[in-house]
Amino acid sequence: MTGATRMIYHFGGGEADGNKDMKDLLGGKGANLAEMSGLGLPVPPGFTITTEVCLEYLRKGGHPEGLREEVASAMASIEKRMEQRFGDARRPLLVSCRSGARASMPGMMDTVLNIGLNDETVKGLAAASGDERFALDCYRRLIEMYGDVVMRTGREEYHRALEKAKHEAGVEEDRHVPVQALQALIVRYKEIAKASAGRAFPEDPKEQIWGAIEAVFRSWNGARAREYRRIHSLPDDWGTAVNVQAMVFGNLGDDCGTGVAFTRSPATGETGLYGEFLPNAQGEDVVAGIRTPQPIRRNASAPGLSLEETMPAIYKELSGFAETLEKHYREMQDIEFTIQKGRLFTLQTRRGARTGQAAVRIAVAMTREGLIVSDEALLRVEAARLADLLADSFPEGTRVTAQRDGRLLGNGLNAGPGAASGKAAFTADAAYAMARGGHDNVPVILVRGETSPEDIKGMEAARGILTARGGMTSHAAVVARGMGKPCVVGFGALVVGEDGRSCRVGERTILEGEFLSIDGTTGDVMLGEIATTSSEIVKVLVDRSLKPEASALYRDYETLMSWADGARRMKVRSNSDTPSDAATARRLGAEGIGLCRTEHMFFGADRIVAVREMILADAKPQRQKALAKILPMQREDFLGIFRAMDGLPVTIRLLDPPLHEFLPRESAAIDEVAAQMGVTARTVRERVERLAESNPMLGHRGCRLGLTHPEIYEVQLQAVFEAALAAAREGVQVYPEVMHPLVGTGEEIRRLRAMTVAMAERILSDQKPAIPWLVGTMIEVPRACIAAAEIAADAQFFSFGTNDLTQMTYGYSRDDTRNFLPVYIAERILPSDPFASIDQPGVGRLVTMAVEEGRRVNPKLKIGVCGEHGGDPASVEFFDRAGLDYVSCSAYRVPIARLAAAQAALKALGGKRR
Ligand code: ADP
Ligand code: MG
Ligand code: MG
Repeated sequence: MTGATRMIYHFGGGEADGNKDMKDLLGGKGANLAEMSGLGLPVPPGFTITTEVCLEYLRKGGHPEGLREEVASAMASIEKRMEQRFGDARRPLLVSCRSGARASMPGMMDTVLNIGLNDETVKGLAAASGDERFALDCYRRLIEMYGDVVMRTGREEYHRALEKAKHEAGVEEDRHVPVQALQALIVRYKEIAKASAGRAFPEDPKEQIWGAIEAVFRSWNGARAREYRRIHSLPDDWGTAVNVQAMVFGNLGDDCGTGVAFTRSPATGETGLYGEFLPNAQGEDVVAGIRTPQPIRRNASAPGLSLEETMPAIYKELSGFAETLEKHYREMQDIEFTIQKGRLFTLQTRRGARTGQAAVRIAVAMTREGLIVSDEALLRVEAARLADLLADSFPEGTRVTAQRDGRLLGNGLNAGPGAASGKAAFTADAAYAMARGGHDNVPVILVRGETSPEDIKGMEAARGILTARGGMTSHAAVVARGMGKPCVVGFGALVVGEDGRSCRVGERTILEGEFLSIDGTTGDVMLGEIATTSSEIVKVLVDRSLKPEASALYRDYETLMSWADGARRMKVRSNSDTPSDAATARRLGAEGIGLCRTEHMFFGADRIVAVREMILADAKPQRQKALAKILPMQREDFLGIFRAMDGLPVTIRLLDPPLHEFLPRESAAIDEVAAQMGVTARTVRERVERLAESNPMLGHRGCRLGLTHPEIYEVQLQAVFEAALAAAREGVQVYPEVMHPLVGTGEEIRRLRAMTVAMAERILSDQKPAIPWLVGTMIEVPRACIAAAEIAADAQFFSFGTNDLTQMTYGYSRDDTRNFLPVYIAERILPSDPFASIDQPGVGRLVTMAVEEGRRVNPKLKIGVCGEHGGDPASVEFFDRAGLDYVSCSAYRVPIARLAAAQAALKALGGKRR
C-alpha cells in the first residue's frame, strides 16, 4: 500500500465520502452506509477502514503506518457530530465495530456493539439516558461480545450466568433483569472473561476499539468465514472492511426497537414492506432469536402487535425509506433499522436474498412497474434458482425445527432439487414392492450405498433417492435429475446394512418402512415424515392439474421465460429416454432431444432376457436371433419418442455401456438367469468372467462394441429408421439424428457412417417426402477433440459428452472420486467440481479446439452438448461463447438452461440490446 492511499472514508450525519459503487474498497456494508447517507437517510455517523488496510494487516500482522492517527481523527469527527466524547464519564460516545466484505457473508464475521463502556462511562450513560438498567445491560452485552469476538472466550459461560441470574430474579426475559442483578452479572462476566482468556477485559475504551478493529480484520480468516467462502466459491483475497459507527439504542424503552425490513417479500416476492421487529431490543437480539419478533405490517394472525399498529408514524417513515431505497437501487432491499426514543435510524441496506419464486415475481413486477427493462429482469434471476420453482418443498423453517427436535441426521450433496418424505427402502425391489410400482400412494425413499442401472425400477417407484456415496454426476444423481426426483448423494454418515433391511446414521438405526425426509435442494436428511408442498409450475405445465389463470406465479414465470426465449441464441434440448420423459421435457420448453440413451431400454423386465440371450450367444446367428426379439421393442420405444417430439429433432445414441453391465453379478441371480435361458449356471458364470474388465469405462464399450459386433448397432439402426418411417406415415414430422458414442478416430466414424447410411438407404429410400436424418458423434474422448478435423469429415454433428470428456481429460474415474475430490475442493486444489461446472481452461479448451477444427473442415457441422454441464448456468455461458448451437440437459433443468442461455447471450452483447 502506498502512503498516499486513503485508509478511511466517512459516512453518516449528513456526510459521505464513499458511495455504493465502492464495494471493493469499502465492503458492501460500508459502501451502502455511505450511499444511504448521500440520500439523506438517517445513518448514525461513522467511518469505514478499507479492505486494503485489512489485507495489509493480515499480510504484515500489524497496522499500516499512520492508521492510528487517522482513526483518532475520525473518532474526533464522530464525537463532534454526536456531541459526545469517547471515554467521557458524563456524555460518553459508544460505537459499534462492524465487519463488512465485498459480498454479504451473513453472520460469518464479527461485530462488537457498545464499545466505550467501562465502570466509569456506564454511570455517565445511565445518567444521560436516565435509565440505569439500560446502561448496565449495554455494558454486560459489551463484555460478552468483546469476550467472544476479541478475547475468544466463547459465549456459553456468559449465557449460563445470565440464565442463572434470571432464574434467581424470577424473570423470564433478558430485558427484565433488575439493576442489582445486572451489577452482579457484570462482575461475574468480567471474571469469566479473565478466567477463560487469561487477561482482564480492557476498561480503556481506546484499547477496546483497537482490539475490536483487529479482531474484525482477523475474522476474515476465521474458520466460519473461510468455510462460507469455500461453499460459495468466493475468493480469499478480498479482505473485509471495518465500519466504526456511533451507537443508537433500540433498548431504551418501549418507544424503541430494532428490526429488519424487506422492500418486498423475500419468500414469495409479493409487493409491499415485509419484515420483523422487536420492541425494546438491541440489533443482535433479532438475529439471536431469543425473543419472537413481531411483524412490521398489520397481520390478521397477530393483531395489535405490528409496527404498523404500535408505531404508525415510524411505520410510515420506514415505508418511505424503503420506497426511496428500492427506487434508487432499482432492486429489492434488505434494511436494518433501529428506533431510539421515537427516532428511526437506518443501519444497513443491501440486495435482499430471496427464493427462486420471489426472484421471478420481483423481476417481472419491477419490469411492469417500469423500474427495470426486461433484459435486466432476465439477468436478475439466478438461473439455477428456477429449480426452486419446479421442485416440491418443505415448509420454511423445517431444518431449524428438525435440528431442535434432534431429527436432523445430517447433510449430503444436494444432487436433485426438491423435498421428499417417505418410508425407507434399501433395495430397488423393496422400493418397487412398497410403492406397488408407483401405482400406489405409499411414499418411498430409496436408500442405497450407491445406485446402478439395475435400480432404475426402484428409483422410478420412489419419491426420492438417498445414497451414501457418489458425487453430482453419479448414477443416482443423473438419473434422479432426469426424473425430476429429489436426491441427496454422498451422505457419508450413512451405512446401509448388509441385510438390505436397515441402515445406520451414527448411533441411529433406521429400519425398512421407517419415515425419512430428504431435501435435495439443501442436502438435508431428516428423520420422520414431513409434509411437502408441490410446485405450481409443475402442476400447470406437467400434471395439468392447475389452470394457468389460477397461478400468478406461473404467469410471471411464463412471462420471464418468453423474454428468455426471445433473447437467447442457443437452442435447448433435453436428455430424455422415454416418451413420457420427452413429453415432460417438451412441456418445460425443450426444443428436441439432445440425448436419448438406449441402454435404459434394455433393462425392462420384458427386454433383459432377450438382451442376455444376445450377450450369451456364442455365434452370430444365435445373437441375431436374440436381437430379432429386441428389434420390435426398440422400434416401439423410438416411435413413442418421435411422436412425443413431433416436429423436433431427436438424437439417439446407440448402445454405450460395456455388455457385462447387463449380466447378473451375485450367484443367486446367475442361477436365475441360467434357468431362464435354459443354460447351465457355469455357462453364464464363464461368460460373465470373460466379459469382466479391469477398466470397464475404458474398455469394450460404445462404438468399439458397435464395430466389433456390428449386428447390435445394425438392429438399433433398423429400429430407428423403421420407427421414423412409421411415424412419418402417421403424419408425424421426424428428425432423427443417429449418434455414435465414444468415437476417437476418423476411421471409426467413417465406418459407422457407412453402416448408418446403408441402413437408412435400405429402409427410407422410397419414402416421399424424404425424411431428413443426420449421423454424428458424441465427442467425449480427448483424441476426438484434438483430431476433430479427421472426424468432422464424416460427421454431420458433434455433441460433447462432457461427463466422459471431463473424466478422461482429468483421468478421474467418475465413480471413484469420493476419496479425493471432496478433499481437493475443500483444500482448493481444484476451484470447484469439474463434473458439475465445466473446467474452462482444460476441458473447455478441448471443446473450443474441437469446434474450430470441426467447423474448419465442415462449416455446416451442428454442435451441441449433452453432458450434465448442459444444465449448469456457468457452463452454458461458456458454451454460448464457444459458439455451440444447442445445449441439452435433464428435463427439469430445461428452464434453467433456457434462462442461462438468454443471460449468456445478453452478457455477450454487453448490454447493447437496450
Ligand atoms: P451482520 O453483518 O452480522 O448483520 P452488523 O454489523 O450488521 O452484523 O451488526 C449486527 C447487529 O447490530 C445488526 O442488527 C445491526 O443493526 C446492529 N448494529 C450494528 N451497529 C450498530 C449501531 N451503531 N447502533 C445500533 N445497532 C447497531
Ligand atoms: Mg447486518
Ligand atoms: Mg459417454
